[in-house]
Amino acid sequence: MQFLTESLIQLITQTSTNLPPDVRAAMRDAVATETPNTQAAQALNIIASNIDMAHEDEGAICQDTGMPTFIVHTPVGVNQIVVARAIRDALRETTRRGKLRPNSVDSLTGKNSGDNLGPETPVIHFEQWEDDEIEVKLLLKGGGCENKNIQYSLPANLDHLGRADRDLEGVRKCLLHAVWQAQGQGCAPGAIGVCIGSDRAHGYMVAKMQLFRTLDDVNPDPRLAKLEAGIMEEANRLGVGAMGFGGRVSLIGCKIAAANRLPASFFVSVAYDCWAFRRLGVRLDASTGAIVKWLYRDPEAPVRNMAEASGFPLSGREIALRAPLSEEQVRALKVGDVVLISGQCFTGRDAVHHYLMHHDPPVDLRGAVLYHCGPVMLKSGDEWQVKAAGPTTSIREEPYEATVLERYGVRAVIGKGGMGAKTLAALQKFGAVYLNAIGGAAQYYARRVKKVHRVHLLDLGVPEAMWHLDVQDFAAVVTMDAHGNSLHADVEQQTGAELETLQKA
Ligand code: SF4
Repeated sequence: MQFLTESLIQLITQTSTNLPPDVRAAMRDAVATETPNTQAAQALNIIASNIDMAHEDEGAICQDTGMPTFIVHTPVGVNQIVVARAIRDALRETTRRGKLRPNSVDSLTGKNSGDNLGPETPVIHFEQWEDDEIEVKLLLKGGGCENKNIQYSLPANLDHLGRADRDLEGVRKCLLHAVWQAQGQGCAPGAIGVCIGSDRAHGYMVAKMQLFRTLDDVNPDPRLAKLEAGIMEEANRLGVGAMGFGGRVSLIGCKIAAANRLPASFFVSVAYDCWAFRRLGVRLDASTGAIVKWLYRDPEAPVRNMAEASGFPLSGREIALRAPLSEEQVRALKVGDVVLISGQCFTGRDAVHHYLMHHDPPVDLRGAVLYHCGPVMLKSGDEWQVKAAGPTTSIREEPYEATVLERYGVRAVIGKGGMGAKTLAALQKFGAVYLNAIGGAAQYYARRVKKVHRVHLLDLGVPEAMWHLDVQDFAAVVTMDAHGNSLHADVEQQTGAELETLQKA
């Protein structure tokens, strides 16, 4: 199979850089539906530009290129060991080319393998079939949305929705709750794959498999088709909106399967995927490994641009700031302000925050902008280049951020999805703000980086290191200010109240 590895390299590259037409169509509808001139509309415009940039430059749509999950069907007689080896070779090569972020970390030591390979990585499911060709489907689903997967064991009592029983009405409540609890942390608008029934482990698997259905298909079971349509309608009345900013579009897809269960168990398993819904597939010649056909898209059909105009749609009300920032500057900001940050900025996510609990930072962070980001970086000669650099989910740093603000004098934290009460109190006490960047807009933000000055703590791995960047007009929304206000808390409360009205419906 002389073409097999090359075919898989193409599959991985295209999946990471070029969203399939059904997802593009859903996101086009989202842009058209959202109320113009709102923060959610601005977020959707940036997302649309980002999708175009990723396709034009063949760059990763989002810097979190996820856990590669392959579903492979082979004819009888095909050596699956050879196919698995080719998948691993293709992953190594696409990581080297910067199409994937090195994303595989030893769970005991925290060491990044650097090539997306390791125990149980990637995930490969093989199945034999009676067709003559090999079929390989690939899903790249990042950590932010993976962390918002949820499983219910019915009967259960749900926030704002009351008791969910072991019936379709109980399932409906679970699914509305699943969308609500994700808020902006899984980079809404998202899609859910659902399994009603099965056991805990296989239920999650069947739920994830629903993400291989196209967003515009219709469930062949009329009962599930009705439930899917109802959830789409009701979830989009919740008001979570793009990035959790509040808005009309929270969900772009709902795909439900039912599996038999044990009489004693009634699980509802939900796989939440973000707007960066990267899923493609190929049919391969079983003797050569050459691509016979693409799944989910027609490579001959031209890819339509998503955005009407490129870049960030300026309203004229944006506040330009240059880092390092003063306390006075940040105390003047309030929730809802859109800022354009220029100057120096330091990345830091899970490992850096953990490090800062026990060591002083390698740089002076007084007045600094700290960016929750694990970028894709490539080294060319002595120079590092940013290949993708969107925000990561900030709530993971909630146990640490208040200490970082107090000890080191950081004035602005950029991330996505918002943070909790402890950080909000620290922002107020020490004079700092939380800025929500647009999750997944990795190409857009990579273009805002004008220079990579240095890298610190590189032994933590490329995504976890502290990158010292120079940015220009880096757009973000103030969602937590130094006056005790949090847009995230407000939206969560408002959408919770909306859930209560749906519960009574
Ligand atoms: S778009 Fe958001 S949730 Fe999705 S992979 Fe990227 S960072 Fe994670």
